[in-house]
Amino acid sequence: GHIARLPHELEPPPCFENLVSDNILAQGFEIDVDWLLLDLPWTTAQQVLGGSMRFHAPGEPTPVADDDTFVATEDLFATLDVELDDPTLEAVARMHVATDIGEMRRAFRVQLLWLLGVAVVMVASLAFGIRLLLGSVRSSLEQARRTENFVAAVTHELRTPLASVKMYGEMLHDGWAKDEEKRSEYLERILRETDRLGDLVDKVLQKRRLSGAPANPEPGDLNLEISALAPGLAVAAGEDHGDLVFDLGPDLPPVLLSPEAVREVLVNLVENARKYAPVQSRGDEPIRVVTRLNSKRRVLLEVLDRGPGIPEEERGRIFEAFYRIGDEKTRRTVGTGLGLHLAQLQVRSMRGRLQALGRSGGGTVFRVTFKTQKPSARGEPRAG
Ligand code: ADP
Repeated sequence: GHIARLPHELEPPPCFENLVSDNILAQGFEIDVDWLLLDLPWTTAQQVLGGSMRFHAPGEPTPVADDDTFVATEDLFATLDVELDDPTLEAVARMHVATDIGEMRRAFRVQLLWLLGVAVVMVASLAFGIRLLLGSVRSSLEQARRTENFVAAVTHELRTPLASVKMYGEMLHDGWAKDEEKRSEYLERILRETDRLGDLVDKVLQKRRLSGAPANPEPGDLNLEISALAPGLAVAAGEDHGDLVFDLGPDLPPVLLSPEAVREVLVNLVENARKYAPVQSRGDEPIRVVTRLNSKRRVLLEVLDRGPGIPEEERGRIFEAFYRIGDEKTRRTVGTGLGLHLAQLQVRSMRGRLQALGRSGGGTVFRVTFKTQKPSARGEPRAG
């Protein structure tokens, strides 16, 4: 403050009487302590502090800091740089702000969980994408491998009969066949080999045809169709080996079928059984062709053999085009891998289902489940 000594020569007014002589007049101001220490910090705190922070005015009990509470202390006199004569007054201007950090921690945890969730979703979708990609790469590779197998099989299938035809043709041409009997034997072999060639070409063409055309199965008697085929099927390579028996169930309801498809499927399944599960000697159990009703009154056609069986993991794949079990180089049987694929296409054209199942006691069951003709709900369309 500004301090001035009153000049003695001045006559002070009467109200200054008590101040005269050796008294000092100092300029200054008075501060409302309640306002400075209580009201002002309180109103300011209300304006600036968030919900999780609590203001403790001077004089209020000091909040306790713990795991969930952070306490900040402010000494107003120290901040304002006020010199105090009485050190006990220091505590008078000490105020606290207690912050609930438990709340913050919880919010943080929620945020963290959310982030973690996002991360998990991202990783999962990434993994899923990679799997899809790998799957498509794998299926392309598989397709390529199958095509390669097919080319190898077709080449193999073509080469053998072609070589035979060429050989017998040359023998005939060069006059190796001395008598009529030899000559007709060679001719017969040539015919048989050309049949094989024709068969392969037929299968490839049949596949193309079946992949496109819509089929039109009609209600029919399955047993009737099979009975018509039985004599031809029983005779393999011109001879009846007795390796095939028929067991046709009685009173089967009509099913959706096409005679040509039934023939193709049955011939294929029986040929496969003879090829992969041949009956070795007369005493052995023959290949069985069965028709019956299952528990749901569906009509089944089954071809059962006592061969080596088909491993479970292969049972779905053998119906894929060109798929053959094993490796082209180590396999002993010849084939194209088209037979079962064609059979399945035929069965589907009759709206049925073809499955390969394990047979108890060893061997395989190929099962065709036919679609039973349902009585039309709408009734027959009226004439006129
Ligand atoms: P292909 O006979 O030309 O090889 P298929 O499509 O007819 O082709 O058969 C596919 C594969 O299924 C065959 O390579 C064979 O390994 C297996 N298979 C088919 N029928 C049988 C069967 N009755 N017993 C065991 N394996 C079979």
